Amino acid sequence: MKRDQDKKILNEMKIKLPSLSVNESLARSVVAAFCSQLDPSATEIADVKCAVSEAVTNCIVHAYRDTIGVIYINVRLYEGGVVRIEIKDKGCGIEDVKTARQPLFTTDAANERSGMGFTVMESFCDKVRVTSKVGKGSSVTLFKIFGGR
Ligand code: ATP
Ligand code: MG
Repeated sequence: MKRDQDKKILNEMKIKLPSLSVNESLARSVVAAFCSQLDPSATEIADVKCAVSEAVTNCIVHAYRDTIGVIYINVRLYEGGVVRIEIKDKGCGIEDVKTARQPLFTTDAANERSGMGFTVMESFCDKVRVTSKVGKGSSVTLFKIFGGR
């Protein structure tokens, strides 16, 4: 995949939502509707919805666990059917990103979490980038190429 800056941006959307659980389905629908401009298949749209849902849920249940904070979503559509979705929070941050990304790793087994969110994002996207700083927040960037280009 070409680096972001090598490709032409066709369209961009930025949204900010409070970390209320009702906004999880809203976020995934809005992102999917925006991405539909690139003419994805039904499966590709379902993949995007699923990955966005996992990332937004993590902001709600982990980043802003005992509080309500802002979730920042930035979607960029590039030529060649490439979509880049950044989901960012200013919550608690992740101590060890590499470990957090392992299948079945969770810090919240008490609430019956399965530790599969990042694994789901990885399986439904072409690339997942995660950066985080404890006490500052996290950023998850999902890349998806529609049409397998
Ligand atoms: P599941 O997604 O299966 O319900 P989970 O949320 O615990 O379980 P992942 O989504 O894979 O599993 O996340 C793994 C761990 O990474 C979480 O348990 C949490 O500790 C940490 N984490 C993920 N996203 C964030 C975030 N935005 N802010 C803080 N911690 C996070
Ligand atoms: Mg999760």
